[in-house]
Amino acid sequence: ATPTALMVGTGRGAQLGLLIRGPEVLESTRRVDTIVLDKTGTVTEGRMRLVDVITADTERAEALRRAGAVEHASEHPIARAIAEAAATEVGELPPVVSFSNQAGRGVIGVVDGTTIHAGRASWLMGLDLTLPAKLAAAQQDAEGAGQTVVFVAWDGRVRAALVVADTIKPTSAEAVAQLKKLGLTPVLLTGDNEAAARHVAAQVGIDRVIAEVHPEDKVDVIKQLQAGGKVVAMAGDGVNDAAALAQADLGLAMGTGTDAAIAAADLTLVKGDLRGAVDAIRLARKTLATIK
Ligand code: ADP
Ligand code: MG
Repeated sequence: ATPTALMVGTGRGAQLGLLIRGPEVLESTRRVDTIVLDKTGTVTEGRMRLVDVITADTERAEALRRAGAVEHASEHPIARAIAEAAATEVGELPPVVSFSNQAGRGVIGVVDGTTIHAGRASWLMGLDLTLPAKLAAAQQDAEGAGQTVVFVAWDGRVRAALVVADTIKPTSAEAVAQLKKLGLTPVLLTGDNEAAARHVAAQVGIDRVIAEVHPEDKVDVIKQLQAGGKVVAMAGDGVNDAAALAQADLGLAMGTGTDAAIAAADLTLVKGDLRGAVDAIRLARKTLATIK
């Protein structure tokens, strides 16, 4: 008898813009008590734009030209914002050779014979570079306002701070409020810096933040919550989120996200709107209540 109700529930899900992998997914949806939300592209739009350039010991155009050239070789939303802004402002970007992408950290490449690093502060510090006071101050201001800073270094010095900003989806706060009403604990998970993550969390009503998590470690965050007895949903959009989505008791992919995330998830929120997670939980509870 139960399979019919589950099939009906799955069909109703499709009408709500929820692509449910199979009827059994509704069972795990019903049991979830914790929902981990990726920040960039899930809670936020994931469309970054360059909003400021602060330099130390170089010109703005030079920093943009070099950073833009290296970031041009990366697909990361931050990289695209920088490359596009650089091309608009300084024109054609020089070619990059020996490019290397360090996931969750930054990029390296050789431009006009000079090795350029562009990435997060902690990564550059680990390479024995120091932040000039002017750039460190700019970082504090930007991160406190929820923005992300990419530092650009060459010839042994950090020479510029590129500030990129994202926009919180207008539906995220409402979705979080509803998820809490349904008894779920939301957790914000990101590779981005702690201050920016806290800022975004505060805007949408999330208390628990796990920030500066490297892409390869996101899955461990899910495992730890599960080891603590939680039944965990994870919502994400990126290639970086795929392993965590697969590990979660319920993986929710944004329909606007990458194919890797969608393939790893149990359920896709077609519109990329987190309110779909609320609909999914309500639907699962209703569907399974009629069975009992
Ligand atoms: P998220 O969890 O927000 O998707 P990632 O794990 O992809 O973030 O990246 C974490 C951080 O690593 C970024 O906030 C940024 O500081 C740095 N980073 C990643 N890729 C790049 C890049 N191409 N250029 C500069 N910085 C980068
Ligand atoms: Mg993301």
